[in-house]
Amino acid sequence: MKSSPPGPIEPGSTIGILGGGQLGRMTAMAAARLGYRCHIYTDEHDSPASQVAATTTVAPYTDAAALTAFARSVAVVTFEFENIPEATAAIIEPLAPLRPGRNCLVIAQDRLNEKAFLNGIGVATAPYRRAADAMELAQAIDDIGRPAVLKTARFGYDGKGQVMIGANTDLQAAWAAMSGSNGAQIGVLEGFVEFDREISVIVARAPDGSCQAFDPVENRHTNHILDTTIAPAAITDEMGYKAVATARHIAEALDLVGLLTVEMFVTRDNTLLVNELAPRPHNSGHWTLDGCITSQFEQFVRAICGLPLGSAARHSNAVMKNLLGDDVLRWREILAEPGAKLHLYGKSEPRPGRKMGHVTRLSPRK
Ligand code: AMP
Repeated sequence: MKSSPPGPIEPGSTIGILGGGQLGRMTAMAAARLGYRCHIYTDEHDSPASQVAATTTVAPYTDAAALTAFARSVAVVTFEFENIPEATAAIIEPLAPLRPGRNCLVIAQDRLNEKAFLNGIGVATAPYRRAADAMELAQAIDDIGRPAVLKTARFGYDGKGQVMIGANTDLQAAWAAMSGSNGAQIGVLEGFVEFDREISVIVARAPDGSCQAFDPVENRHTNHILDTTIAPAAITDEMGYKAVATARHIAEALDLVGLLTVEMFVTRDNTLLVNELAPRPHNSGHWTLDGCITSQFEQFVRAICGLPLGSAARHSNAVMKNLLGDDVLRWREILAEPGAKLHLYGKSEPRPGRKMGHVTRLSPRK
C-alpha cells in the first residue's frame, strides 16, 4: 500500500535554503508572505537572500557541524542552486526533509547524468558524447559531426565552460578552452541544434503528486546569459501541450517535490529537445511574480511545505528583461515607466554580466 505523504509544514515554521542568491531572496520574500521564516545557508556575507531572511548561517558548504546545526533548526531544507556537493545533501537528509531530494541534485548537476536520465525516460535531447580528454573529443566529433558544442559536464552555468566547434575549430584549442575555464576534467559534446526558439516550462509538484505548470515562455539569450523572457511563448497550442506534458513527465520520473524548470529547444523542423533541467525556481520564471496568480516562488514554497498548489494561471502577458551589470543604473528611468515592475536584488557591485535585477513589462492577456 502506498503510504500517504506526511502532513503539511505549517506557516510559522522555518524553511532552510541552501544558497544566498536572488532566487533564495525572492523565495524568502514569498515565504514571509505566507507566514514562514527562512534560514539561509550561504558561504557569502551580506547575500541577497540573507538581507530579507530571519536567520543566516555563513559557512562553507562542506562544514559538517554548521550544516548539522542548520538542518536541526529548520522544518524542511531546499536549495536555490544545484551545484551543492552531494556530501552536503547526505549530511542534511537524515536530519530534515530535503526537497527536492538528493537524486534531483545528482542528475541536474551533471549534464551526462541528466542526458542519460532523460533519454532513459524517453525524452529527446541533442545527440551527445562523453569526452574525457582531447583524444576522446576527436572521436566524439567523428560520431556527432560539426558544428557541435563542447560543454563541461559539471559546474557550467550561463554559458561558462562552453565552446562552439565550427568547421575549422582546432580540437586541442577547444579542449583547452573548455577544461581550462574551471579545471573540469570531463566534457560533453553536443550536436549543434538549429533551433527556431528556446522555451522553458516550470512545473511545481507537491508531496501528494499533484502538479501545476506555468505557461511555456520564450527565452532569448545574449552571450549565453538569459536576456529576455517572453510570456507566453509564440508556439502552437500543440507544441505548448507537448512542452508541459514533457515537463510533468520529467518531474514525475524524478519523484520531485518542489519546482522543476525544463529548458527546451523548438527545432526548425518543429521537434522538441530538452537542453537542461534546473530543480529550483529559475530566471525564466521571474515574470510570474507580476504576470500570474501564484508566482513561481510562492508555488515553490507551497510545494516544499506540502500546501495546496496555487493557480498558475497567467493574468497578463509579460516581457521580463534582466538588468545585468550597469543596466541597473537605469532604475530611476524604469521606475518612471508606467506598467514596468522593477525588482532589484540588493547586490552592491554591478560587475559586467552580473544579474543585478530585472524588469517586467505587462500587457493585457492575449
Ligand atoms: P546551456 O548552458 O546548456 O543552457 O547553454 C546556454 C545557451 O547556449 C543555450 O541557451 C543555447 O542558446 C546555446 N546552446 C547550448 N547548447 C546548444 C546546442 N546543443 N545547440 C545550439 N545551441 C546551444
